[in-house]
Amino acid sequence: MLDSPEQRPPGRALLGGSFNPPHIGHLRLAIEVREALGELVDSLVLIPCGNPPHKRADSLLPFALRAEMTRAAVRGLPGISVSEEEGERQGYSYTWDTLSRYRERLPGRELYFVIGTPDFALLHTWHRGPELPKLCQFVVVARGEQTEEPFVEAARRLWPGVRGVAPVLPDSLCMELPGGGRVHYLPLPWLAVSASRIRERWLRQRNVDFLIPRAVDELLRVRHAEVAEHWKGDGMSC
Ligand code: ATP
Repeated sequence: MLDSPEQRPPGRALLGGSFNPPHIGHLRLAIEVREALGELVDSLVLIPCGNPPHKRADSLLPFALRAEMTRAAVRGLPGISVSEEEGERQGYSYTWDTLSRYRERLPGRELYFVIGTPDFALLHTWHRGPELPKLCQFVVVARGEQTEEPFVEAARRLWPGVRGVAPVLPDSLCMELPGGGRVHYLPLPWLAVSASRIRERWLRQRNVDFLIPRAVDELLRVRHAEVAEHWKGDGMSC
C-alpha cells in the first residue's frame, strides 16, 4: 500500500461532482488536496458526472456545457485537469464504473477519490458504495463542520472494525478497513459556497463575482437562455 511510496509510480487524485456550475469551493478543494497529496499523485482530475443517480436531473445543465465550464475553470492550474469520460457513457454514471476504468488504465497505481463528509456518510446508498475502497482510497474533507467525528462515525458504520493507523497525509487522520483499504480525513478550511446557492443567485440576477471564475461567468452569460431554462427546474424563477 502506501508504506513505501517512493517505490511506487505516482497515483492519481479524482474529484467527481456535478459542477453545475463549477465554483471556487471546488477549485480550492482541488488545489489544496493536490498539495496535500504531494508526490503521491501525478495530478488531480475533475470528473463531471454524466447522469448522476443521486442528483435531481431537471436542473442539471447538459454534460457538454458543464464539461466546458469545468475545463475553463481549471485552465492554468498546474497538475489539475478535467475528464469527460462520464459523458461518453449511457445510463446512470456510477463511481464504481468510473473507478474500475481508471484501475484498468492505471494498473498498480493508487487512486485517491476526494469526497465531502456528507457524501461519504451516504456511501451505503451508492452503487457498490461500501466496496469502493477495493478500487480507491477515499480522501474525505469536512464540509461545514470542522471536526473529525462525522468522518469517524461514518467509517465505523460503513466498515465495522475499521481502526486508526498512522496518518499518511499532513495533519490528517487515516483509518484502515478490516479487509484492507484506507480512508483519510483531511481537515481543510471550508468555503461556504455551493452550486445550488450560486444557481439561485444567478437566476435572481444577483452578483456571483468571486464565487465562480470569470470564464465560467462568461459562459453562463453567453448561454443565458439555455442555462435559465434548466436551472428554473430548481424551483426558482428568473
Ligand atoms: P449542489 O449545491 O448542486 O449540491 P455542490 O456545490 O455540492 O453542488 P458538487 O458538484 O455536487 O457541488 O460537488 C462536488 C464535490 O465538491 C463534492 O465532493 C463536494 O463535497 C465538494 N464541494 C462542493 N462545494 C464545496 C465547498 N464549498 N468546499 C469544499 N468542497 C466542496
